[in-house]
Amino acid sequence: MVKKSLLTSCLLGIMALLMLCPQQRQATAAEWTVAVHPATLLPGDVARVELSPATAIASATLLWQDLRIPLTTLPDGRLAALIGIPRDTAAGSHRGELQITVHSGLRSRQLVTLQVGKKTFPEQHLSLPQRQVSPDRATMDRHRRERAELDRVFGRRQQARLWQAPFQLPVQGPLLSPFGVQRILNGQPRSYHSGVDLRTRFAEPVAAAGDGLIVLVANHFFAGRSVYIDHGMGVVTMYFHLSAISVAEGERVAAGQTIGLAGATGRASGPHLHWGARVHNCKVDPLALLRALAAPP
Ligand SMILES: [Zn+2]
Repeated sequence: MVKKSLLTSCLLGIMALLMLCPQQRQATAAEWTVAVHPATLLPGDVARVELSPATAIASATLLWQDLRIPLTTLPDGRLAALIGIPRDTAAGSHRGELQITVHSGLRSRQLVTLQVGKKTFPEQHLSLPQRQVSPDRATMDRHRRERAELDRVFGRRQQARLWQAPFQLPVQGPLLSPFGVQRILNGQPRSYHSGVDLRTRFAEPVAAAGDGLIVLVANHFFAGRSVYIDHGMGVVTMYFHLSAISVAEGERVAAGQTIGLAGATGRASGPHLHWGARVHNCKVDPLALLRALAAPP
């Protein structure tokens, strides 16, 4: 009897202490390790923010700029979020925050610091027929409608991970033009190059870079015949200037599966593949996406 009342008063004491000290319901941040890969980022890169050990964590969300990105388990079991570093990001430290909930319901916060280095992008001077450089009004109206269509596609991106197999290059051809190059068309500065151009033969098969869902098949003024794949975790890749397309919207594709044939449709001076990628709607270097998803060192 005495033992029971002692136990009861002990329990009451603990409950009172918990009510008086709400901060004790916070899990300690020291229990987790946050790692950012690569450790030093450049504008246009993709950062993989990892939280470990993943076992005790019920859910975690990365607050980054105006985004709330849920951490997702990668095929190898690591818990991670992907972030795109915009091309015009200033060099220096950039901060985000991880909000962590463990299985017992306790919550914790942890700061995430991303170190972004300085990168100067080269200029590329191109000569094209003036009609393609300064399109007429009807063409610009068409371009605006196409951009609105793209905004809808990028706004609907999947948060869950849709890929299992590793990502790969869509064609093997050499790099003709890297990401981020400042385009100067017929002497006039234009928007920067939002993807990479890879050399192809005409009608060379183009493969899906990763497993995903075909979210758009289009024939746009600049991109020509094009395919957009949503891979989940905020990652969308796109394939421009195709001569033929062999997939349909709503179809699931596997990494390496042929989605169409290379060509020169849209604004292209010869056959090549323009391959683009976005991470949470941020334009990134698709080659940096491959690096970010590669196995840890
Ligand atoms: Zn291009």
